[in-house]
Amino acid sequence: MAEKVVIIGSGPAGWSAAIYAARASLSPLVFEGTVKPEMIPLGQLAYTTEVENYPGFPFGNIHDFVRSAVDQDRHWNLPEPPDHKKDGQFHYAVQGLELMELMKQQALNFDTRVVEDDIVDIDLSSKPYKVIPAQGEPIETHAIIVATGARANYLGLPSEEEYKNKGVSACAVCDGALFIFHNKPLAVVGAGDSAVEEAAYLANLKTAEKVHMIVRRDEMRASKIMQKRAMDHPKIEIHWNTVVDEVLGDGNLVTGLKLKSTKDDSTRELAVGGMFVAIGHTPNTSFLHEKLTTNDKGYIKWTKAFRTDTSVEGVFAAGDVADDYYRQAITSAGTGCMAALDVERWLAEKGIE
Ligand code: NDP
Repeated sequence: MAEKVVIIGSGPAGWSAAIYAARASLSPLVFEGTVKPEMIPLGQLAYTTEVENYPGFPFGNIHDFVRSAVDQDRHWNLPEPPDHKKDGQFHYAVQGLELMELMKQQALNFDTRVVEDDIVDIDLSSKPYKVIPAQGEPIETHAIIVATGARANYLGLPSEEEYKNKGVSACAVCDGALFIFHNKPLAVVGAGDSAVEEAAYLANLKTAEKVHMIVRRDEMRASKIMQKRAMDHPKIEIHWNTVVDEVLGDGNLVTGLKLKSTKDDSTRELAVGGMFVAIGHTPNTSFLHEKLTTNDKGYIKWTKAFRTDTSVEGVFAAGDVADDYYRQAITSAGTGCMAALDVERWLAEKGIE
């Protein structure tokens, strides 16, 4: 018998969709993904440290709460707690991996079924549709929720990889306020709207010292109004015709950047306590083989306002795979919920029980 709904992806959108679908008795089947970086199990948050902007998780004794909620057999996947204590107890904001394990747990508590595999293709040529896993037989399903997210683009330097989560980040809004960045000069790489937004966000923090924007050409891609925002900001300095050649650090944290001129290849060092990479994202859609309509940047197109419908009926999209604008855990979770409600109503409309 065909599944009612298959959910592809296991970030905030996937688990929120699963929680809602499971509670609507749709018995969802979630494909969690295994391939890094494209199908990151538990999504991009699995790579971040403390998440201070997810509502409902202020600083507190998260450590004990998470361990009380998450099944014992998955405790091995929980990260070490940060070293902040208050009155002898752990006191920190939920870490990305903890938040994702909590979301997964909530879905499991309502009888969501989870498969540790990737979907490599989908067949939408006849109904019920089919999803094709990397291993195992194709699975028939009436509805599909695509929640495979997007991945931040990085420069691809080995030193950048070494300092990820130790001063290298791809999200200023998520990480900029962390203690390790307080009162230090910081760098933002990129020259699009995101780069300016990230630079302005960092420069406006109470703890901001100075923000250096590293721009590879002699002009910015960002919209004029955003460019002006960067140029007029007293705490932002723009380094034109410049790329990052190497991230420098002391083994624990970033301490600077080796910069290279794109004009004459000359190099110099810049002391910074963090590097924020804002050079665009890539949506995880290759397994769709262009069977759903995307926008000009490759993100799945929502075809109805305030709905998660895609170009194919019965196929819904949630989270960053369809959102190149907000890209926040909370907005992904929100659209995951919407997709499950959209599936429930679509199945009812079609008389599929
Ligand atoms: P964009 O693709 O617009 O910009 C990417 C930037 O990164 C470009 O400046 C590009 O340089 C630079 N870049 C790419 N690769 C490298 C590299 N290897 N080394 C150095 N620099 C590199 O992506 P964004 O994420 O900025 O924006 C995505 C979309 O979201 C856009 O449509 C944007 O308008 C929108 N957005 C809107 C906002 C708003 O309205 N407030 C805020 C944030 C995003 P180059 O120009 O030389 O190619």
